[in-house]
Amino acid sequence: MTDKNCIFCRILAGEIPATKIYEDDKMLVFKDIEPKAEVHLLAIPKDHFKLLSEADETRAEILKHMLLKIPQIAKDNGCGNGYRLVINQGDDAGQTVFHLHIHILGGEILPW
Ligand code: AMP
Ligand code: ZN
Repeated sequence: MTDKNCIFCRILAGEIPATKIYEDDKMLVFKDIEPKAEVHLLAIPKDHFKLLSEADETRAEILKHMLLKIPQIAKDNGCGNGYRLVINQGDDAGQTVFHLHIHILGGEILPW
């Protein structure tokens, strides 16, 4: 599924530029435009869905794929000493882009 009004779908479609780090048939990883750490990447599924709470069995398989890929991607991009994964779910968490994404933060000692 694609949402033509979704900024991350537009990155996937090549309509908005992004610094792409990794891509396969299920996911894309690119640099966050406003990094909150020395290394700040975003991993997104190619299938558009808004919230973690919308995950079903099929989407959970994609999330599993992403979680299995992320350690190598993080290591290859300066997070060999550790990193943090964040999924913001909904308004109270400050979610601003409603296409599910996993923040990968690292490259420094992270304050909690
Ligand atoms: P969240 O608050 O979890 O919804 O995070 C959305 C993230 O997307 C923020 O860290 C933004 O800096 C990032 N972001 C928004 N637009 C872009 C873009 N065009 N390219 C890269 N990152 C973006
Ligand atoms: Zn989208």
